[in-house]
Amino acid sequence: MNQVLVVGAGPVGLSAALALRAHGLPVLLLEADPRDRERPGSRALFVHRETLRLLDGMRPGLADEITSYGRTWQTRRTLYRGREVYSRTYPPSTGTPPFTSLRQVDTERFLRAACERAGVEFVWDARVTDVQSTATGVRLTGEDGRVWSGGFAIAADGARSTLRHGLGIAMEGSHGEGFHVVVDVADIPGAELPLERVFHYEHPGVGGRSVMRVPFTGGFQVDLQCRDDDRQEVYGSEEAVRRWLPSVVGDGYAERILWVSTYRFLRKVAASFTDPHGRVLLVGEAAHLFPPFGARGMNSGIADAAAAADAVAAAAADAVAAAADGAAGAVARFAEARRAAALFNSAAAGEALDHLRPRRRIVRIKQRAAAALAPVLPQCGSWLEHAPYGPRGGAPVAAGGTY
Ligand SMILES: Cc1cc2nc3c(=O)[nH]c(=O)nc-3n(C[C@H](O)[C@H](O)[C@H](O)COP(=O)(O)OP(=O)(O)OC[C@H]3O[C@@H](n4cnc5c(N)ncnc54)[C@H](O)[C@@H]3O)c2cc1C
Repeated sequence: MNQVLVVGAGPVGLSAALALRAHGLPVLLLEADPRDRERPGSRALFVHRETLRLLDGMRPGLADEITSYGRTWQTRRTLYRGREVYSRTYPPSTGTPPFTSLRQVDTERFLRAACERAGVEFVWDARVTDVQSTATGVRLTGEDGRVWSGGFAIAADGARSTLRHGLGIAMEGSHGEGFHVVVDVADIPGAELPLERVFHYEHPGVGGRSVMRVPFTGGFQVDLQCRDDDRQEVYGSEEAVRRWLPSVVGDGYAERILWVSTYRFLRKVAASFTDPHGRVLLVGEAAHLFPPFGARGMNSGIADAAAAADAVAAAAADAVAAAADGAAGAVARFAEARRAAALFNSAAAGEALDHLRPRRRIVRIKQRAAAALAPVLPQCGSWLEHAPYGPRGGAPVAAGGTY
């Protein structure tokens, strides 16, 4: 069997490479960055149970490795203008936890080590600039003129995907107004904040902006939702964060900031997840971009990676059929199922965004009413707790899971 080319060593490309190795396929992973690169920030923190199970299927024991490093909290709290409207502490789970939280850079560290053990061949400093797909395979060209060929290529080269551009596949969707500020803060050893996820609507300490705190191993992420007319330098520079952070998490943290980033909301899905020959499969942010609430980005990317590897393995097992039935084969089924999942995720993330950044006054009024009623009607507090992450379940059957 021809080798399979994977482009991009982000969490999704690494998962795809691992899944291909689990199918016994030879894998060449091409990454633009150097071997000793430093990836910034916490970014995608949540690794959900479904994702852990997928990863364990690719490399038995990997889920345990990740969960024993990550953090799982039992308590979730929601506040509205300084007053608690929801708090729930769950009993510790047995077996695979419902999720684990660790910085994306740490997840990638585990995935990379697993890939190395599984025999994935890495080529660092390999920026792909051109892709040619035919009925029998794929040819990639690097910026320095190197050429790599394979039976299939999995494009995990992120939001600005060169492969997607090269194949002329458009991204369809929208981008929202405004931005969030994401801040990583290191714990104070011996005086860690409680291990809980806290969402605060209209926090009085930051002029009524909503803010979320999420723990990870060694620290926590603070996510501030700015208004459409907020200026980035007033909230998003490191100096600005030092000013507002104490009113959200208390004193002593302004000097413990690890990373500050701002990001805007994109909801985009590729018009197709494969090329007409069914030889290049788009996965992760090369195929879709969602706002982060609900943790759909990396989790759905890893689901794409698993499905793409299954499809390539099925097509590679019968190369003649793959060449002959192209659009009707395993790759086409992958593309259809994962695009349906992406459209579902995009709509779910859109619902979360409508709740978090209400366009209509009525939504704010409903939130205020729910907060007032929460002490007597617990379902109102529960709605305030759950709505920021979008609907759970209801994914199309074809998607095969939550993401
Ligand atoms: C500030 C911020 C906060 C986020 N928060 C969350 C969150 O809370 N939850 C969540 O689920 N997600 C979150 N995300 C998104 C999450 O980081 C992405 O979903 C995830 O990184 C996507 O993984 P990927 O492997 O598809 O792409 P990437 O991580 O972008 O990896 C792509 C890889 O491809 C390489 N590459 C690119 N072009 C080429 C080329 N031409 N040739 C070779 N290699 C190439 C890149 O160097 C990179 O290594 C956040 C992102 C940001 C920026």
